Amino acid sequence: MTQDEQNQLQAILKSIKKADKIIIHRHVRPDPDAIGSQVGLAEIIRANFPDKTVLTAGSGSDHLKFLADFSGVQANEYDDALVIVTDTANIDRIDGRENIDFDQNQVIKIDHHPLDDPYGNLAWVKPSASSCSEMIADFYFAFEDSLTLPDNAARLLYGGIVGDTGRFEFPATTPHTMQVAGRLMESNFDHTDLLNQLYEVSPQVASLNGYVLDQVKVEDGVGAVVIDQAKLQELGLRDADTNAIVNVPRPIAGVLCWGIFVEQTDGSYRCRLRSKGPAINQIAKDHGGGGHPMASGAYAYSHEEIQAIIDQFKQAVKDFQS
Ligand code: AMP
Repeated sequence: MTQDEQNQLQAILKSIKKADKIIIHRHVRPDPDAIGSQVGLAEIIRANFPDKTVLTAGSGSDHLKFLADFSGVQANEYDDALVIVTDTANIDRIDGRENIDFDQNQVIKIDHHPLDDPYGNLAWVKPSASSCSEMIADFYFAFEDSLTLPDNAARLLYGGIVGDTGRFEFPATTPHTMQVAGRLMESNFDHTDLLNQLYEVSPQVASLNGYVLDQVKVEDGVGAVVIDQAKLQELGLRDADTNAIVNVPRPIAGVLCWGIFVEQTDGSYRCRLRSKGPAINQIAKDHGGGGHPMASGAYAYSHEEIQAIIDQFKQAVKDFQS
């Protein structure tokens, strides 16, 4: 860890120690890393500073209830609160953002996405980290002589790392990631049970999985599939359920990047974009979104725009292979 980073961690710990109330946010439509980093940090602060009020903001996610539940934070809780936002690159994607007063609240950003939107008074941003949960674990390990790690925090952080690395499969997984995961595993939680819960799918999602495999069109290294509202309704599924099928095209030979285009109730398409070769986050940005080089998201407003994204993907594959 660089000296700069150590100074950032010291500054974050100092702010936490000074605050009586801390409200921790993460991004909308939370995934295991968003919840793991947010609630993992909350559990560490609660265990070590029991006199502080620690609240976790944002709406819950039915399929991740086994990680943590959310009851919401009222606007009147924010006076003099320290706000920490984990795993959220852009202000617009902070769940519960409307309650944060960026002029009054001290805001700390802790994130592993590229620094496109540098909000907050203090930021610790590390795009080389596999996950924000890995960063929160590093925060704990930096002060482990004076802090304790509750078992549930270790469980949440481990779950976040597993989620964002695709069970240690994605390229952002480093030897350090494995060391952190190994050390978290020393805590008392059942990692097999946690992974069973993380990867359990309903029979309806299993059907969607089959549909994606059947329907995915592969051309010039690019996989693409559109899931329309009619399909979701037929299976009784919602947009959030498509989390579980994002990586279905990944193992198909010849697919270097792919998009799952999920029709929303307003007729737009949520574009879930993934790669195992060329960086795709600039393409996501071109369509009003963003994200990581290998995992991004955007919205498309017509079939033509979906086709434009697919064409840009094909060009990216060509450039990558030349
Ligand atoms: P998702 O397919 O929603 O899991 O998104 C993958 C990654 O892309 C997330 O970790 C976010 O960083 C990013 N992302 C998704 N949607 C957006 C968006 N509309 N704007 C910016 N970044 C996004």
